[in-house]
Amino acid sequence: MSRDILVVGGAGYIGSHMVRMLADAGHRVTVFDNLCRGHRDAVGDARFIEGDIRSSGDLQRGFASGRFDVVMHFAAFAYVGESTQQPALYYDNNVTGSLRLLEAMREAGVNRLVFSSTCATYGDPVELPITESHPQRPVNPYGATKMMVEHALRDYGRAYGFDSIALRYFNAAGCDPQGRVGERHFPETHLIPLALEEALRVSTGGDPASTGLSIYGNDFDTVDGTCVRDYIHVDDLCRAHLLAADRLLSGACRGAETYNLGNGRGFSVLEVIAAVRRVTGVDIRYRMGPRRVGDPGGLVGSAVSAGEVLGWQPRIPGIDEMVATAWRWMLANPTRGAHVGNGVASMPAP
Ligand code: UDP
Repeated sequence: MSRDILVVGGAGYIGSHMVRMLADAGHRVTVFDNLCRGHRDAVGDARFIEGDIRSSGDLQRGFASGRFDVVMHFAAFAYVGESTQQPALYYDNNVTGSLRLLEAMREAGVNRLVFSSTCATYGDPVELPITESHPQRPVNPYGATKMMVEHALRDYGRAYGFDSIALRYFNAAGCDPQGRVGERHFPETHLIPLALEEALRVSTGGDPASTGLSIYGNDFDTVDGTCVRDYIHVDDLCRAHLLAADRLLSGACRGAETYNLGNGRGFSVLEVIAAVRRVTGVDIRYRMGPRRVGDPGGLVGSAVSAGEVLGWQPRIPGIDEMVATAWRWMLANPTRGAHVGNGVASMPAP
């Protein structure tokens, strides 16, 4: 059944993949985004409202423009390192912005939300794989901001009959297998696109020895000393949102629910680099650097609950296949669309 879905942050990496998947599934999609880090052309043909989640006026305008069955909220800053250096930016956008969105939803009488949360809410794991009942003790402001919104959702669920599903992503990776949208962060800080950029540089004549790729620490308590992460394909994440929206619309979710989204399998930084070498055929090099502040050593999730309750199973669980979708997109878009304008690193006050 076709529904009206508001995708907040639909011009960003995961949001723009979501917009494609919703449109493919026959839903009517409206994107609300301030384009501070997203890209107007990533929205495609979907209806677009330019607005800032920290502005109640912008949000009121957005909700007055139509009736929405479900809101999906992707609009957040998501760089662990930046969050430790500029926490104010993160609390303002991720917490204040989300609270304004919740208020605007209540005013508009829309009470179903799918929220992008993160494994960064757990902090250093006390046991692996991490289940939803694992203690949440974030070790960086990014994780703290997402946890605060989860708490608000729980309280809104109890007090206001507000139904929400928070999806705690592990490491989003890859691009649309059809090549319509990709990962376009400026600056890019994520491991897979950085390693692929290095492969692109070397494959177009760059000197392998002058690599820009650094590994952030090799003294963690992991298989090879480098950080281990559970990478999950962006389309698998988006399919979980579709299932979560169905659950909200069916009335089966009463209050706030949370589910992990991961593959249950971790790859170290060195293993990811090996996958990038296999997929690209380029012998990329790296430098060994110090740890990045705020990085836990190993994060691997259990998504058993998402399987049982949402009926979700990853379809692209292999690291090589994930990397291959990102490599195809990068080969087709070597500047990642930088020439058509991109989000900037900081954001003005609304
Ligand atoms: N990483 C790295 N070098 C880089 C970027 C990332 O060694 O240039 C590591 C980082 O420490 C983490 C993993 O790769 O353990 C994934 O980092 P990313 O920034 O992609 O995602 P995050 O885990 O921060 O969400």
